[in-house]
Amino acid sequence: MATPRPPRIALPRRVEASTGGATHQASPKPAWLLRTLRRWFDTSAVVEVDEAREDRIDWLRAVPFVAMHLACLGVAWVGVSPIALLVAAALYALRMFALTGFYHRYFSHRSFQTSRTVQFVFATIGASCVQRGPLWWAAHHRQHHRHADTANDPHSPGVHGFLWSHVGWFLTPRNFRTDLSRVPDLAGYPELRWLDRYDIAVPVLLALALYGLGVLLQDIAPQLGTSGGQMLVWGFFVSTIVLFHATVTINSLAHRLGRRRFETKDDSRNNLWLALLTFGEGWHNNHHFFPGSSRQGFRWWEVDLTWYGLKLMAALGLVRGLKPVPAWVLARARY
Ligand SMILES: [Zn+2]
Ligand SMILES: [Zn+2]
Repeated sequence: MATPRPPRIALPRRVEASTGGATHQASPKPAWLLRTLRRWFDTSAVVEVDEAREDRIDWLRAVPFVAMHLACLGVAWVGVSPIALLVAAALYALRMFALTGFYHRYFSHRSFQTSRTVQFVFATIGASCVQRGPLWWAAHHRQHHRHADTANDPHSPGVHGFLWSHVGWFLTPRNFRTDLSRVPDLAGYPELRWLDRYDIAVPVLLALALYGLGVLLQDIAPQLGTSGGQMLVWGFFVSTIVLFHATVTINSLAHRLGRRRFETKDDSRNNLWLALLTFGEGWHNNHHFFPGSSRQGFRWWEVDLTWYGLKLMAALGLVRGLKPVPAWVLARARY
């Protein structure tokens, strides 16, 4: 299996534009509004804001995020069925694995290798989570590790407060952009840059596919008691919102609640409940002490579903070079 190497190609100008800092001139209001709306569909659209607004929530940009929460209330109209719950749970599990195994342990930390095809498949599944593209996600996560629990950490509950670390930080103009200088190893793949630029594309396709599946099942298997609207609300909106809040508990709660096995400069914690919810990410103090391992549950009893999934993928030849936990790391453990 070939380890993918980023092709050496120049970044297109519009991609570079998406990485740059803001220019601090106010543009006419209608043009600014149009560009802001365009960013819902094309994240490379540049919107200038004053420096003072860089760290404030961009409420227009936040509309889809708020709307997705409100769409979950649709369960009152569409009802529920076992098949809808099953699809919602299966999509939670598959997408949580894509986020933890690939967005986090692969794209952000390069803790194993894989082929360009597998890389793209899991980048696409990750993109369906509505947590932006793989380059954006990895660039901000690397920033988090570099400056964990300092003023330069994008989401520290200790520095910025709990709510900000959970749902505020990514809604600001400053954190909207992808700094490609933090992910030079990934930015050379045009397919990954496409997913990053049009980060709404995969979620929309998933939502349409779920609606179509519901309509089809209603027609060919009416005994299942589902419909297009029900599959859309449960399979897409509820599953995605639960997945989102579970993921960001690692930014908020995993720097607040739990035990500290390792003396790290940050405030990261190990927390079994968060580890169960996020397929292993709750062993966050382990991870901050040694982020280079593909494994985050360092002891055999520390349940790490992502690690088991990656071991299975390695056995199937889909990934390779999983990085273990070195003995010197375990020797530094306090319990
Ligand atoms: Zn952390
Ligand atoms: Zn990490």
